[in-house]
Amino acid sequence: MQQHDNKLRAPLTTLKGVGPALAGKLERLDVCRVEDLLFMLPLRYEDRTRVTLLGTTRPGQRCLVSGEVLLAETVYRGRRSLLVRIADGSGQITLRFFYFSRQQQQQFQQGTQVSCYGDVRAGAGGLEMIHPEYRILKPGQEAATSDALTPVYSVTEGVQQGRLRSLVGQALEIMRSSTPSELLPDDVLADLQMPTLAAALLYLHRPPPEADLISIEEGRHPCQLRLSFEELLAHYMSLRNLRLLARREAAVAMNGGTEELQTFIRSLPYQLTAAQNRVCTEIAADLSQAHPMMRLIQGDVGSGKTVVAAVACIKAIACGKQAALMAPTELLAEQHWHNFKQWFHDFDLQLAWLSGSQRTKDRRESLAAIAKGTADLVIGTHALFQDGVKFHDLALIIIDEQHRFGVQQRMALRDKGMRSNFHPHQLVMTATPIPRTLAMAAYADLDTSIIDELPPGRQPVRTVALPDKRRPEVVARVREACAGGQQAYWVCPLIEESEVLNYEAAEARHELLVQALPELRIGLVHGRMKSPARDKVMRAFKDGKIDLLVATTVIEVGVDVPAASLMIIENAERMGLSQLHQLRGRVGRGQAQSHCVLLYRQPLGQLARSRLAVLRDSNDGFLVAQRDLELRGPGELLGTRQTGLPQYRIANLVRDAELMPKVQRVAERLQHSDERNAALIMQRWLGDAGRFGKV
Ligand code: ADP
Ligand code: MG
Repeated sequence: MQQHDNKLRAPLTTLKGVGPALAGKLERLDVCRVEDLLFMLPLRYEDRTRVTLLGTTRPGQRCLVSGEVLLAETVYRGRRSLLVRIADGSGQITLRFFYFSRQQQQQFQQGTQVSCYGDVRAGAGGLEMIHPEYRILKPGQEAATSDALTPVYSVTEGVQQGRLRSLVGQALEIMRSSTPSELLPDDVLADLQMPTLAAALLYLHRPPPEADLISIEEGRHPCQLRLSFEELLAHYMSLRNLRLLARREAAVAMNGGTEELQTFIRSLPYQLTAAQNRVCTEIAADLSQAHPMMRLIQGDVGSGKTVVAAVACIKAIACGKQAALMAPTELLAEQHWHNFKQWFHDFDLQLAWLSGSQRTKDRRESLAAIAKGTADLVIGTHALFQDGVKFHDLALIIIDEQHRFGVQQRMALRDKGMRSNFHPHQLVMTATPIPRTLAMAAYADLDTSIIDELPPGRQPVRTVALPDKRRPEVVARVREACAGGQQAYWVCPLIEESEVLNYEAAEARHELLVQALPELRIGLVHGRMKSPARDKVMRAFKDGKIDLLVATTVIEVGVDVPAASLMIIENAERMGLSQLHQLRGRVGRGQAQSHCVLLYRQPLGQLARSRLAVLRDSNDGFLVAQRDLELRGPGELLGTRQTGLPQYRIANLVRDAELMPKVQRVAERLQHSDERNAALIMQRWLGDAGRFGKV
């Protein structure tokens, strides 16, 4: 069995016609072994299984035809071209070539039989094919048809379609004599009603003429599901392995701190919600284990995740350890800093601040306190896991808005907390709630807690979508609201990825609003401001000294000003649903009824219209995320680049999400009772180095 597989696992250079140069090009496509060719599925198929009669062809059709040359001529109308008229008794068609050699010209003698494959289109003088693939037939020879549909692969620079096809053909040949091991248990395959791996691969590379191409195109053919299933399984198991491994790793068991924790909760100006209490209990239980916690808190925007993080810190610090809290932006880190300062004011503990824009002297002081252990809690940005930061005894790491950070960054911070063989506990929080099946695939290395309840008294934000030509009405509405003592955000359009342009747009909008609303106190924040300046504006807004805050999307994450109750978002049609939901979550935090106005530029496409409708109709972040996922795909939702969400070869998380519960069950079973096959599946799909998080 194992030996058989070896031919498939051999390097590409074992195939005919593959030298180091071609192997190098294919390697860039991640095709390194013979087997990898099999997992590179065709993009589409061509039907060369039969010859189509010329009399029955129609424009738009792609087909194989055959006929006798009636006439070949070079014409100079507009552009020099070679026209070859062929006929088969049922009809005629013209072949048109713009690039041709003298030799080609001479091939098309009157009476010669040719077969061609190409797109049929309506030309000036009837049906034509432009630059078809063609073959000159010998007298009496029939056009060559194939037994199966012809696969079309995605080509890379310098590797031609024909070459790829023949290489895959060789790989299929090898597969015929040395079938790849079937790594899924028989009863699982039977239960899923899926073909074996080998049957699925053969079918997809060489579908029979009657294959249901529509179901293949939509990715729901059982053969594709079979492959997607195994790929999702491989990725799931590798993430799950990280989790299982952590259960065997050692961490400091923090048993104490219960009293301090109660005192802290009692000192808060409000009561924790039942959901917050439940999650705090789950965290406290994790922290008292001698294995590292790896927990994700999911909760809608405004559900009160920060205070739960504070509870975790209190417990760790009461046990004599250090904790670190990392946020994705300075603004958010600063807000946490202010909150924690206030919350911990009456407790005897030290906070330290670390950020990229910090003055050298302050930074040095922070670093010293962190290294000596006089700092109990460190709050900051990415600066936390950079070189030169040495913790005295870091035992708890909290990462806010985790979708903004990569797995790698998380690992880097974790390594800061490594103390001989002791691992730190990790808590990650995300305000982009993600659908359950997607969470299963993306965060299988984490245990999940969900805060599924908002603090009492919150009223859903009322949302409307308006064309931006109605901006004057909206300005009037802002005037009225602020005159009545409310505060408002005006979020400026996002211009590409350019911070400079975003900030210019925000400045211009600020200018206009200052002119239009001279009686209001109007502030401006954007990403290019130095943090003290920005902090000052945010403070003023928080303290009610500014009525209207003009901002770029820097305020997207986490900013908390409960008195603000009106938000205007420009160019809403360009933003992702989850991002809009995040922005909107800045209002609706106090007791007053809040409103959100989504301004869009006309004309609005059908997709954009339905996207905005989702926000108008729902305040539930999980529902918004589900729709966002359906409309834009998981990469956008999770930020693929940042999270390092795996790039699948065949599976598609949106399309195949419903496989996840079964993937999970099969993974549990294999990892429990068939570790060898589990390892082989991971190796097949992820390669030797491919353990997620380790790359
Ligand atoms: P998020 O989950 O979006 O990070 P925050 O932690 O910023 O939410 O909390 C949002 C707001 O809700 C803050 O003003 C916070 O003080 C408040 N809050 C949190 N928990 C409660 C609670 N149990 N009762 C009332 N207000 C709360
Ligand atoms: Mg938050």
